[in-house]
Amino acid sequence: MTKYIFIIFLLSSVTNASDVFNMTFLGTGTPRPNIEKLGPSLLIKNQDQQILIDIGRGTSLRLSQIGNDYSNINEIYISHFHFDHVIGLADFWLTSNLWQKKSDTFVYGPIGVNAFCKNIMDTYKMDLKYRYKDRKYSKLNCFSFKNKKSVLNEEKISIQSFANDHGHIDNSYGFKIKYKGKNIVYSGDTTLSENVIKNAKGADILIHEIFASSKKIFKSNKKLREVASTHTTLDQMISVLKQTNPKLTILTHALLFGINENDVLKVIEENYNGDVIFAKDLMSVDIGKEINIFNLEVLDEK
Ligand SMILES: [Zn+2]
Ligand SMILES: [Zn+2]
Repeated sequence: MTKYIFIIFLLSSVTNASDVFNMTFLGTGTPRPNIEKLGPSLLIKNQDQQILIDIGRGTSLRLSQIGNDYSNINEIYISHFHFDHVIGLADFWLTSNLWQKKSDTFVYGPIGVNAFCKNIMDTYKMDLKYRYKDRKYSKLNCFSFKNKKSVLNEEKISIQSFANDHGHIDNSYGFKIKYKGKNIVYSGDTTLSENVIKNAKGADILIHEIFASSKKIFKSNKKLREVASTHTTLDQMISVLKQTNPKLTILTHALLFGINENDVLKVIEENYNGDVIFAKDLMSVDIGKEINIFNLEVLDEK
């Protein structure tokens, strides 16, 4: 049996269902394995569309936990090719066929995405041969952002990529997600990025990565200082918030060393007035006239 726990963040009034879209954090983690925080992945949906932004470790498991059989997820956007953001793609694709997904999945990503998909399909060709013989199975159709035709349609969720600044990574992107006049900005993995700031000004929701550590650990660990240089430090985050002032900011992909989420929020509160929270796996957000947050926790009845 599945039971849902609803925690209302802001009280809502009655809104037309088609005007509301929803996002669920399937994974809020980093490359480090953590059962509470699986790899980065965000499910965005309205009544007709279901889209994944990044597809990290365990995305398939989280989808299964919320009763999603993948059959309507036809678009996946990849922010960059660090493995924590893409390692779930093969699992998603192979399992979707096992569950008889009829339609191909369109994957959009940085240059190289086409080869990446071809390699996945090639790697698993033995399994496909055994399982499907001459029968049809759905494919991964992959396009780099440069080759993506974008058709503006007010009735559809639109996703626009923009370059961010992830240090040594050449092709790394954030996304602007728009639907019916509302917009969400997803920073991707990035250090302080003028492009993120430009896109996130006045956003309804800013989803942003963060790095923070205690002074002691930071001073004594060179590797950590290198990691910090490709991510957004607490000081940089405060600067981003002051310049963009989103209605709500949700921190995710948090690299925290010797400091916890409450410590981070306390420092932010001392320096910035807006609403800032940390994402949790299975946290779900309705975006319409108001923003409503609830936790989609699946509890097995024993
Ligand atoms: Zn990452
Ligand atoms: Zn990365």
